[in-house]
Amino acid sequence: MSKPEDTDWTRRKLLAAAGQGLVAAAAVGAALAPAEAQQPGTLPQGAKMQSPPPPIQLDEINAPTEQKHGLTPTPMPPDQRVGFAVVGLGHLTLNQILPAFGECKRAKLTALVSGDKAKGMQVASEYGVSASSVYDYASYDQLKNNPNVDVIYIVLPNGLHEEYTVRGAAAGKHILCEKPMANNPQQAQHMIEACRAAQVKLMIAYRIQYEPNNKLAQQWVRDRQFGRVKVIEAVNGQNQGDPNQWRQKKALAGGGSLPDVGLYDLNTTRYLLGEEPYEVLGTTYATPGDPRFREVEETVLWQMRFPSGALFNGTTGYGFHESRRYRVLAEKAWFGLDPAFSYNNLRMELSQVQGMAEYRQTPSLDPKNQFALEMDHMAECVRQNKTPYTPGEEGLQDHHIMAAIYESAHTGKAVHLGRIETLDTFRGKDRYETRTQN
Ligand code: NAD
Repeated sequence: MSKPEDTDWTRRKLLAAAGQGLVAAAAVGAALAPAEAQQPGTLPQGAKMQSPPPPIQLDEINAPTEQKHGLTPTPMPPDQRVGFAVVGLGHLTLNQILPAFGECKRAKLTALVSGDKAKGMQVASEYGVSASSVYDYASYDQLKNNPNVDVIYIVLPNGLHEEYTVRGAAAGKHILCEKPMANNPQQAQHMIEACRAAQVKLMIAYRIQYEPNNKLAQQWVRDRQFGRVKVIEAVNGQNQGDPNQWRQKKALAGGGSLPDVGLYDLNTTRYLLGEEPYEVLGTTYATPGDPRFREVEETVLWQMRFPSGALFNGTTGYGFHESRRYRVLAEKAWFGLDPAFSYNNLRMELSQVQGMAEYRQTPSLDPKNQFALEMDHMAECVRQNKTPYTPGEEGLQDHHIMAAIYESAHTGKAVHLGRIETLDTFRGKDRYETRTQN
């Protein structure tokens, strides 16, 4: 495997030291700080907003053995932030995304789109959005006349992502779309083409790829910190409720547990390895008579083979108690997160051996709001005219693989995908923004 893009000397040296001995939480904290110490880049010619100032330097007040705090935040002044319209005022928007704007440093909320006028107006007043910037699904296209909106964040049922991406792109706005990108590869492909034709950016909201613990795990995998990765095991599932909700309807959800939560197993594994699977083998199950699974699957188990020889074993489900974890089995250690895919309280675990003793550690990084990180990343891509780290192509590739998993479950045979030997084939190249958000 080739080396990752982040080659900061001090960070790598610290990580190498961690691999030789046993990683202490303090060392992990210190390992992140040098990467964050990079100075912000300068804006390209023609960029419409100013470059952020360098972080204010504060004296170190603790001994070198204590955990480092990283750099001071560098928020953009509100009038220079990138404006977001959020479409769909459901659970994710109201509980996570809108509160996350309070932790953003590059993005700001400027418009709302809801089918419920009264709800839209209430939320607008709660978050300081002007009444004239509240739209419904019919007036959505009028966002094109709102100069305060740069990005449309689509948080609707999966089956509506295609329509609202195409209409949003036609309105000349950049698109941040929730996962799964769509219902199938065809819709995802159409979304990419529409954004390309309109010359707007398209990012899929894979929040895990912007989260510090997962980024550290990725670094360990890519650096072979604990030797080669042999196997990644992942589980993401929950016990689903109301059988009448859109997640249980094929037309609105595209599928059951796989595109909704199993996607985290799949996308995070691809992110950690940087590789693409060339073979998948899957099986699905739905409890007979359970009204929740009339149209969509309940449980999916699947395996994948990767070019480096790494294997994946994954589980997702809509019928068992919440479980969200993965474990990376490498030659000299295992590590992983449990929970791995939740919004908060992610917990890293690392097991190494020294002599007769097994050491299990729980390296901990300061928590960050994943939605703020991903929205700030999109804002930086707009400000600096860069391709997002998780563009539409990243979402499309997941849809190709999920289609292969369903096909395998249907035929009972392994499905072969094209063999891709390059790393991070479908990701944007520039990770500066994702490493420096502090
Ligand atoms: P939700 O049901 O709570 O909200 C959906 C919103 O869409 C509601 O406001 C609803 O009124 C509106 N809507 C418009 N047309 C609709 C229609 N025809 N049928 C049903 N609702 C309609 O759903 P949610 O949990 O907020 O999920 C929205 C999107 O966000 C989905 O794509 C989901 O996969 C994604 N999601 C992502 C995460 C994450 O961690 N990134 C977490 C949860 C959900």
